[in-house]
Amino acid sequence: MKLLRLSTLLPFVALATAALAPLPARAADPKPIRVLLLDGQNNHSWKTTSPILKQAFEASGRFTVDVSTSPEKNAAAEAWSQWNPAFTSYDVVVSNYNGQPWPDSVRTAFEKYVSGGGGFVCVHAANNSFPEWLEYNRIIGIGGWGGRNEKSGPYLFVKEGKVVRDPAPGGGGSHGPQHEFMVEMLNTTHPITAGMPARWLHAKDELYDSLRGPAENVEVLAYAFSDKSKKNEPMMMTLSYGKGRVFHTPMGHADYSMKCAGFQSVMLRGTEWAATGNVTIPLPKNFPGAEAVVSVP
Ligand code: ZN
Repeated sequence: MKLLRLSTLLPFVALATAALAPLPARAADPKPIRVLLLDGQNNHSWKTTSPILKQAFEASGRFTVDVSTSPEKNAAAEAWSQWNPAFTSYDVVVSNYNGQPWPDSVRTAFEKYVSGGGGFVCVHAANNSFPEWLEYNRIIGIGGWGGRNEKSGPYLFVKEGKVVRDPAPGGGGSHGPQHEFMVEMLNTTHPITAGMPARWLHAKDELYDSLRGPAENVEVLAYAFSDKSKKNEPMMMTLSYGKGRVFHTPMGHADYSMKCAGFQSVMLRGTEWAATGNVTIPLPKNFPGAEAVVSVP
């Protein structure tokens, strides 16, 4: 029984090999990634969702998080003049902001930060922001509402495994009733998606459809089929803007959407990638499959 003898021996061979192999140089613990989370205005409950994002980042052990909360809607000009997020002190900026235009000085600082190599992550309604600010729309690729139309750029969707840019006239941004939906991978070799199941069920969320914008330098990593648009809508995107890296997910409508174990993993890995160009955060053991939603407490 040759086979039996070989399998009996194998553990010892493995042990001996391990004993002989030089110890790998232990990589120094990577420096924590400094995240700046922006909020303060949103047609969504940012006071509920920002703490969920912050907690998920910090619990991973990979990030430190500061939150910069903008002045309230229609705050006095003086309040705005005092709001100057220190973008360049951070590895990555995560936006949970959807509201009135930022002051010119903040816009300029933000454009410089991203084009100079800063990371940016756009979550859900942050892609509704700033329809009139061209550079912001180049940074996020596509967005919705706020009067967006064919002048904003093409629709972006996936058809038969290919990314389509459709210049057809029409409004940008729409969604049907909230529901659980299947996220389907288009690219599983990207560091963010490596190892993710080809299809996994996302917790109840708003499935944004018909987003449109400049759609330059954008790669679609994953999509979901919208019953409303009858198209495969981008759900995970990476972009480049100058030297900067951008991760954009239209998912994340509410607290229950953000408590999806899949969403949280996507956020952590997307944010690490935007900050560093690499992903070291492993997929969690409870990453959802196609059968059931997995939510974290
Ligand atoms: Zn929403």
